[in-house]
Amino acid sequence: MKSAAARGLGYAHRQQRERLLRKHVDGNPCYWCGRPLYRDPAQNWDGNALHADHTIARSQGGTVADRLVHDLCNKQRQDGRNDHLRPAVTGINVADARAVDDQLGLRLMPWP
Ligand SMILES: [Zn+2]
Repeated sequence: MKSAAARGLGYAHRQQRERLLRKHVDGNPCYWCGRPLYRDPAQNWDGNALHADHTIARSQGGTVADRLVHDLCNKQRQDGRNDHLRPAVTGINVADARAVDDQLGLRLMPWP
C-alpha cells in the first residue's frame, strides 16, 4: 500500500483535516450517507476516524479538502462522479457495500 505522501495526501492535507476537525460539530450529517459525524471513531457507523474529503475530487483538479466524511463513505465516493447516487439521496444503507456498489455500478472490493 502506498503511503499517504505517495498518494498526494501529505502535510498540507493533514493540516486541512485538523482544521476541519477543530471546526467540526459532532452530529453534523455526512455528505455521502447523511449519518452523523463524530470526532470519536467509535461513535461513527463504520467505527473509523473521519476523513477530509475534496468536494472537487483530486482527480478532477481539486486541491482543498473542505469537509469531513466517514472513512468508508470517502472510499465509496471515489472521484465524485456518482455523487447524485450517494446513499444520502437514494436511501440505500451505506453499510451494505454490495448494495451501494450495485447502485453505483462498480465494485470496490473483489467479491468471491
Ligand atoms: Zn458517511
